[in-house]
Amino acid sequence: MVPASRRSFLRLSMTQLPPPAPTALPTEIPDRATRTAPELVCPAGSLRALQMAVDAGADAVYLGLRGATNARNFAGLNFDDAQVRAGVEYAHAHGAKVLMALNTFAAADDVAPWLQAVDRAADLGADALIVADTAVLAHARRHHPELRLHLSVQASATTHAAIEFYRRHYGIQRAVLPRVLTLSQVAHVIRHTSVDIEVFGFGSLCVMVEGRCVLSSYATGSSPNNAGVCSPPSAVRWTERDGSVEARLNDVLIDRYGPSEPRGYPTLCKGRFLVEGQRDYALEEPTSLNTLDILPQLIDAGVKAVKIEGRQRSPAYVAEVTRVWRAAIDLAASRERYAPQADWTARLARWAEGQQHTLGAYDRPWR
Ligand code: SF4
Repeated sequence: MVPASRRSFLRLSMTQLPPPAPTALPTEIPDRATRTAPELVCPAGSLRALQMAVDAGADAVYLGLRGATNARNFAGLNFDDAQVRAGVEYAHAHGAKVLMALNTFAAADDVAPWLQAVDRAADLGADALIVADTAVLAHARRHHPELRLHLSVQASATTHAAIEFYRRHYGIQRAVLPRVLTLSQVAHVIRHTSVDIEVFGFGSLCVMVEGRCVLSSYATGSSPNNAGVCSPPSAVRWTERDGSVEARLNDVLIDRYGPSEPRGYPTLCKGRFLVEGQRDYALEEPTSLNTLDILPQLIDAGVKAVKIEGRQRSPAYVAEVTRVWRAAIDLAASRERYAPQADWTARLARWAEGQQHTLGAYDRPWR
């Protein structure tokens, strides 16, 4: 049982939405002439989502092959070879890049699917691979030296020393930072590495060290790090009882929804449990990271790319969130004064997990 006092830091800076948060005071941008817009990296769980992201202004899209080689291994999601080719063609025709996520850890007894996925990505024309496993990184560097390598958030590299290690040994050109660093820690990392840094700007959060989680392994018997999914569909059970709907992962009751309550995809960390007699979110409240408020500071820190989470979300989510972030990045990088617009906040709130948002670790006051 987790006492209420030890609940997730996510609550610290959380804002209930709607109504939209009041528009922040305009932030004066220092030396705006030298500000470079970071790349906007958007999720594509399907070819339709890819096309909508590109049309809405994504600079790059990231996608995965079907199967366990990527960390969104949901049925009906991801790309076969023909779809990757079509996606690459569409993105390149519109000036966007395609980043392929091969970001789960290879199975100890069969690494072949991960190495073959690297070869397929190269053959299919991906612009970069997003990788966490060192065996996969080594294979890519040795056999496809022309491919850019981005260190996945799954690698949990939070220091410049760790990132430099990956640069020296595997030639990575970009690292995606785990969502556990404060803004000043992000700036510190950037000052001490030549590797481009990408950060998460918007989307769902995970309270573990980026997927290294035994919560769902306990209930389902398979690890998110190898299988690419926290809640495999084969383990998800929905049961109607006395007018409410119960969600389970195998036999573990995760949540019970009233007749008109919105239902989230059942993830063990975001379940409601009885703690000290009170039924509530014991580990993590469903909420979305939203960094629109600190976008100028992220750019000034030297962030080279901003990632939108959500390959498991609908094409409509991808299109709307991409449009808002395109406008925000363009404004923050322009000579105009920047302030998150109420309209952006309201539009993002419609798609935020739990209709709430947070700055997460970026503004936590403790180390
Ligand atoms: S179950 Fe929750 S904490 Fe675990 S990997 Fe999934 S999102 Fe993260």
